[in-house]
Amino acid sequence: GQCTLVCPVGALAGRDDVERVIDYLYDPEIVTVFQFAPAVRVGLGEEFGLPPGSSVEGQVPTALRLLGADVVLDTNFAADLVIMEEGTELLQRLRGGAKLPLFTSCCPGWVNFAEKHLPDILPHVSTTRSPQQCLGALAKTYLARTMNVAPERMRVVSLMPCTAKKEEAARPEFRRDGVRDVDAVLTTREFARLLRREGIDLAGLEPSPCDDPLMGRATGAAVIFGTTGGVMEAALRTVYHVLNGKELAPVELHALRGYENVREAVVPLGEGNGSVKVAVVHGLKAARQMVEAVLAGKADHVFVEVMACPGGCMDGGGQPRSKRAYNPNAQARRAALFSLDAENALRQSHNNPLIGKVYESFLGEPCSNLSHRLLHTRYGDRKSEVAYTMRDIWHEMTLGR
Ligand code: SF4
Repeated sequence: GQCTLVCPVGALAGRDDVERVIDYLYDPEIVTVFQFAPAVRVGLGEEFGLPPGSSVEGQVPTALRLLGADVVLDTNFAADLVIMEEGTELLQRLRGGAKLPLFTSCCPGWVNFAEKHLPDILPHVSTTRSPQQCLGALAKTYLARTMNVAPERMRVVSLMPCTAKKEEAARPEFRRDGVRDVDAVLTTREFARLLRREGIDLAGLEPSPCDDPLMGRATGAAVIFGTTGGVMEAALRTVYHVLNGKELAPVELHALRGYENVREAVVPLGEGNGSVKVAVVHGLKAARQMVEAVLAGKADHVFVEVMACPGGCMDGGGQPRSKRAYNPNAQARRAALFSLDAENALRQSHNNPLIGKVYESFLGEPCSNLSHRLLHTRYGDRKSEVAYTMRDIWHEMTLGR
């Protein structure tokens, strides 16, 4: 009879992601498109002996080109796009009486937790996909069309601070005609391993920019997605502009920048627009408490940001590790993200010229039909999938610490 090798724990089911990415790079038929998340640029340097808080934003594109990447993009571009979509969604809900508060949805650790444990909150969760998925969807449509490459020949690889991003990229909703929007995800540590294996010392590389023409440029509002409170701050900068036709001043919202597990602020939205009460939550324990308060009718916020990892993505599960409960390097990474925002000449997502261009030449307007097809999703009650293994319990304890 036929003998099939079956690995009981599934370890042989998929090849190591690093190996898959090397296969893409070596295949001359394949066009590789890389993207990297905000938190990666302020964590990766630690793996190469740079002091915590060093930004390697310019070294990452150089390293990727040495590896043979065809196109290097910044996930931050898609973070700007998420602000346009999610900000519009918030304004529509404020005007149309739909469920409030709106919860952010860019953290798959939080989205999975809500689907499996708190499905009653799902109607409150923004339908906008995460920056990783928005960038993948646009790469295989907008970019592929401009480059005249069939989407089947393109592979999108993400460098992420996060292990949950692998599962997110594999979700069936995020493929069209059998083609995945994001083909492989490497964590910051896996990317460091790949670079070392190829003999590339990141610390010694000259910085270079991303490939600019369509999706290579981003604002300071996007880079702060890497820390708790950043998505909220970026969203409010744009919502204020939409309502008033002028910029929020001062641009930095320090009330949102603390480190408590739940932070609240009342933000004035300009003359005649009143104020909005918002909350920023990090850690799944605090997220559960916030959800329970909302479902019990005891919360009056209009917008809630949730990140599963304490501190946000800068201290995510794929970043360089620390054995301590609170990573001492995390504060330096966070300060580096805020500096990258302050140093950027553009600090509001709506001022990114490439965002204007993608709406003008491709998507139409925020929350258009095409945006809905490519950049939004639906969530489902996945309570029945909860089959606790020791790994799940460990994972949730770590995330909810
Ligand atoms: Fe991933 Fe953690 Fe960031 Fe959520 S907060 S996206 S789980 S790294």
